[in-house]
Amino acid sequence: MYDVIVIGSGPAGYVAAIRASQLGLKTACIEKSFDADGNSQLGGTCLNVGCIPSKALLDSSHRYSDAINHLSNHGIEVSKPKLDIAKMMERKNKIVTQLTTGVSGLFKANKVTQILGHAKIIDSNHVEVISKDGSETLETKNIVIATGSSPINIPVAEINNKDIVDSTGALEFDSVPKKLGIIGAGVIGLELGSVWSRLGSEVTVLEAMDEFLPMADKRIAKDVLKEFNTQGLNINLGCKVTSAISNKKDITVTYENNGNTTELKVDKLIVAVGRSPNTENLLDKNCGLSIDEKGFIPVNDFCETNVQNIWAVGDVVRGPMLAHKASEEGIMVVERIAGKHAEMEYDLVPSVIYTHPEVAWVGQTEEDLSAAGIEFKTGSFPFAANGRALASGESAGFIKVIADKKTDTILGVHAFGPSAADIVQQGVVAMEFGASAEDLGLTIFSHPTVSEALHEAALAVNGQAIHIGNRKK
Ligand code: FAD
Ligand code: AMP
Repeated sequence: MYDVIVIGSGPAGYVAAIRASQLGLKTACIEKSFDADGNSQLGGTCLNVGCIPSKALLDSSHRYSDAINHLSNHGIEVSKPKLDIAKMMERKNKIVTQLTTGVSGLFKANKVTQILGHAKIIDSNHVEVISKDGSETLETKNIVIATGSSPINIPVAEINNKDIVDSTGALEFDSVPKKLGIIGAGVIGLELGSVWSRLGSEVTVLEAMDEFLPMADKRIAKDVLKEFNTQGLNINLGCKVTSAISNKKDITVTYENNGNTTELKVDKLIVAVGRSPNTENLLDKNCGLSIDEKGFIPVNDFCETNVQNIWAVGDVVRGPMLAHKASEEGIMVVERIAGKHAEMEYDLVPSVIYTHPEVAWVGQTEEDLSAAGIEFKTGSFPFAANGRALASGESAGFIKVIADKKTDTILGVHAFGPSAADIVQQGVVAMEFGASAEDLGLTIFSHPTVSEALHEAALAVNGQAIHIGNRKK
């Protein structure tokens, strides 16, 4: 009898399993994916086909485009760099293997029992594991569902894994497509579009909605759209793809915009229209667990499902599909199983788009606050006025701090610029401790760092920025 069975070994599941074991709970983690040798393929989407391989390619492609476009600005002339895609992919795959085998090592070190097979929940105390060797039923006091999500397939552009691919296929092209189409200007479409655009593809992004990055700060979204179009991403809003037909030569993508129908010819097409939860064949029909019409498992703020002792975390439940959100939910749940007081600060889950420059934010936008009738003040600071950003030739973008008008408590930090993810992370720490804009203003920042832009934006909230005429709303 286990104390906890975790289903799925992505960032939600493997982190939950390790913490459960640290807390003295007898824990098993069931994973259905396996590698070429028949061993468990741990790490889920994030380590295998998501966060890590995409960042490996973003980094490689950034170095390539930097060498071509920016090194000469530093007085360094290089002959045109030569691309070796096979080596770039090999490097990416090596990083993935290092991390996924690392999870296996962590399981051993933490005494988490690793089980290979497809898990099916019979009831709140029984999980059936189906593998090539047959099936067995395990007994447990608690079940944590961490089965994650998979790319959404749309009938108008069916994935054929040759020239019409999902995000997984887009991490494995063996050459740079001359013309690349992308359906969806979400985070994944923008990151993968950046990779291939930097490596030389002519990229066209088709987005059905009229608004770009609706979840981000409005001015940041506007500036980002302009910057990405300048970089050659060619983002077309209000363009709904109605068909994609692949023949031997190319793919004809048809889309509608303002009542007009347009055709686009591309060599490869990435479908990046979102992800759906993995709940297929997960539940025995008598287990009583609810699933909503989109396949998500409904949970409360503590990730409790409608069945006692069954919990669900990560991409398979509501909220942003982000690895760090998934992991923190996993930790919260097993701590609660162990009888500890634990909760998630959902308002403080940061978001990042790992393009160049990066886009990142945490907390509320001005639009959220206006809609909620909360009075606020803002301070902004452009990277063009930050010495370090200028020294590295990375001066596009700005940072904005939003604070409560009366209490000065920081309610949001939004950035677009160099190291935006790491700078916003400092805002997350400040907000976790309930800091005011004044607190951040009183904090000493190393000089010269791009983080000083956060310091100045916090000072600007109360009209005290030093290196710029104070921008107040
Ligand atoms: P998953 O990582 O999807 O893991 C679920 C696991 O459960 C899988 O291994 C699956 O095989 C297994 N499983 C499913 N059903 C069963 C079953 N019945 N029995 C046994 N095992 C089962 N997020 C970020 O925060 N930062 C990023 O930079 C980022 N980049 C991304 C880039 C791309 C291209 C993609 C696709 C995603 C990216 N994400 C990023 C999102 C991130 O990968 C997910 O939010 C995260 O992996 C969710 O974790 P999870 O554990 O809930 O699910
Ligand atoms: P995300 O869910 O953030 O990954 O973003 C996916 C994006 O794809 C959303 O902004 C959708 O509006 C967009 N999308 C979905 N279907 C289509 C379609 N047929 N044509 C163009 N864009 C689409």
